[in-house]
Amino acid sequence: MVKNGLVTTTAMERERLDIGIAGGQIVRLEPDIEAGGAPAVDAGGKDVFPGFVDPHTHMELPVSGTVSSDDFYTGTLAAACGGITTIVDFAGAVRGQSLLEALSIWKERAAPKAVIDYGFHMIVPELDEAQIAEIPGLVQQGVTSVKSMMAYKRGPQGSGDGSLLRMIMAASECGALAMVHAENGDAIDVTVDRLLAEGKTEPRWHPRSRPAILEAEAVNRAATLAAMVDWPLYIVHLSSAAALEAVMTARDRGWTVLAETCPQYLTLTEQEYERDGFEAAKFVCSPPLRNEEDRRALWSGIESGRLQLVASDHCPFFYEPQKQAGRENFSRIPNGIPTIQAMFSLLFSQGVRSGRISCRRFVELSSTNAARIFGMYPGKGEIAVGSDADVVVYDPEREVRLTRRPAEPTLLREHVDYTPYEGMTVTGWPDTVISRGEVLVQEGEPVETPPAGRGRFVPRRSGTWELPAG
Ligand code: MN
Ligand code: MN
Repeated sequence: MVKNGLVTTTAMERERLDIGIAGGQIVRLEPDIEAGGAPAVDAGGKDVFPGFVDPHTHMELPVSGTVSSDDFYTGTLAAACGGITTIVDFAGAVRGQSLLEALSIWKERAAPKAVIDYGFHMIVPELDEAQIAEIPGLVQQGVTSVKSMMAYKRGPQGSGDGSLLRMIMAASECGALAMVHAENGDAIDVTVDRLLAEGKTEPRWHPRSRPAILEAEAVNRAATLAAMVDWPLYIVHLSSAAALEAVMTARDRGWTVLAETCPQYLTLTEQEYERDGFEAAKFVCSPPLRNEEDRRALWSGIESGRLQLVASDHCPFFYEPQKQAGRENFSRIPNGIPTIQAMFSLLFSQGVRSGRISCRRFVELSSTNAARIFGMYPGKGEIAVGSDADVVVYDPEREVRLTRRPAEPTLLREHVDYTPYEGMTVTGWPDTVISRGEVLVQEGEPVETPPAGRGRFVPRRSGTWELPAG
């Protein structure tokens, strides 16, 4: 039972309602429920949102000889402290590997550790016949989205246009969502080689090796291939004005192209790469941080509904020693940043508090749209009778300074030695976080050490892929 909260869903904004919970589900939603014997969480007039859903994470992901530093325990606990009650992580196969085998490896990693509920997408490499034949089997197991990497062509997971088209065809035959990391990998590889040959080895060359036009080009190409099959396409981590324009052009043609952006692209810019020494490596992710104009265009996409949701692309690496692998060569810096715990507080602070978006729009972006698009609605992404009791009591007034400086108090607990948001203050922070009726977090801190492995695998159905009207 959650009492005295101001509940926001896509159907209501800040209505004072109590939430009755039994068996891990919401069983009542009414103005005044008598507490009876059930232990009550007193929301005391704070905001109450559906548990946040982050559909783009990389826990313990093997990348270029190392592994992302949050595992399914530390990463999901940090996520829970940020109000997230469900993640969808990327399982991934390499060239020649069985997709179903890759899925079982990821399930074995997550099952004993996850604190919150989790699903998987599947990253597919350059596909062979045997792998294509396995895609319906993924859907049967509740993995209803597959992703192709148009970048990283020299790695074990990058793939070409033929493979991408075949992935979209296979997805269309079994109701899976086709996703892409949209950047022109061939052009990036050539540019990286040229920069390195010119002695341009520092991290500030990273963004110059993969400009926004290469993202826009890849969005257009992938959208064209999806249109040939007449099947929806989902663009992960959209980062630039040019790429958003390419999405809008595709939609003008009547093509269904959905897109997410990430808190880093809404908050930070390429200026971070001009830092002295090797500090810029802390901001190396792909696509890279863009310029101020891009940042503004993404906010306008958030305000207008042209962007469907905000996902983290959380993929942390320690500055010491992991990021140091690229000291002599920016292309060897493991790509990725820690961003999951503060992501929705950044969105709330800079979105709701600064007057850009309503609480309802915030709920769409942080929870409901992800649950719908990825086939988990209304079990996830909703406060309604019959939904899982995944609920965040959110303090809209709490100010939190984001820091990982040694000796400074912090609420951030991602397993990593820095935050890209060092020194920033956000207004609004999760107070109480409830997953299937269990209180995991109070006043922003875990109630006790939550049991590893309490999180459940969420088998997903086909999602809902309508575009907003207009
Ligand atoms: Mn990516
Ligand atoms: Mn990613």
